Amino acid sequence: MASQSANADALRIGGLTPLTSVDYPGELAAVVYCRGCPWRCSYCHNADLQDPHGPSEPAWTEVMAFLERRRGLLDAVVFSGGEPTAQQALAAAMAEVRGLGFKVGLHTGGPYPERLRQLLPLLDWVGLDIKALPEDYPRVTDVPGSGERAWQSLRLLLDAGAALEVRTTPMPGLDGTAYLDTLTARLAAAGVHRYALQQCRPVGAPADLPAPRHLADDDAAVALARRRFPHFTLRAA
Ligand code: SF4
Repeated sequence: MASQSANADALRIGGLTPLTSVDYPGELAAVVYCRGCPWRCSYCHNADLQDPHGPSEPAWTEVMAFLERRRGLLDAVVFSGGEPTAQQALAAAMAEVRGLGFKVGLHTGGPYPERLRQLLPLLDWVGLDIKALPEDYPRVTDVPGSGERAWQSLRLLLDAGAALEVRTTPMPGLDGTAYLDTLTARLAAAGVHRYALQQCRPVGAPADLPAPRHLADDDAAVALARRRFPHFTLRAA
């Protein structure tokens, strides 16, 4: 793919978290927030990163200089967003990070299954957002066909045996018990073992979006999910 030859310096970045213990399971990591996303979720919590042409700060060379100083102190670097796989420079940036001895993590919604396939040799761990059943994705992302692409990415990662956490942040209106029951049953049947339900906290959402349901530990949908997956996490408010 073209991205394999793109220069890492071209990676457009919207921010850097220098240290986190929650973005890569079991590892101390830095998070690089990549610009650009092909989808337009109404509840997006990083809407300022959707625009690929916004200011790129810090520059990739500054990120690498920072990582050089953190060798031996950090375990991993997570590429998040936005949607990291939207950028052709991602593969080169990941290769440079691996060259420094860090593990590479990826947060993705899976909009580009073929790019994801080609990134597999560079990935140590993936957090994949599955937002809804495939047929309901356009309600979430405003993009036709997005659900098929996300679920193709899921199939690809499962078939590859990738270290994977699937996570759902249910959109208001697609967060009822019956809906989440169907969704988690489909995910478990697909072969997902590690799954997280994350409380939706809409930022700047349209006024007609209903309030999100509060996902508590004793919620019926949470209890169903807990039974279905060998590893289950509730990330509540
Ligand atoms: S896929 Fe993620 S970054 Fe893109 S619009 Fe949706 S919530 Fe925002």
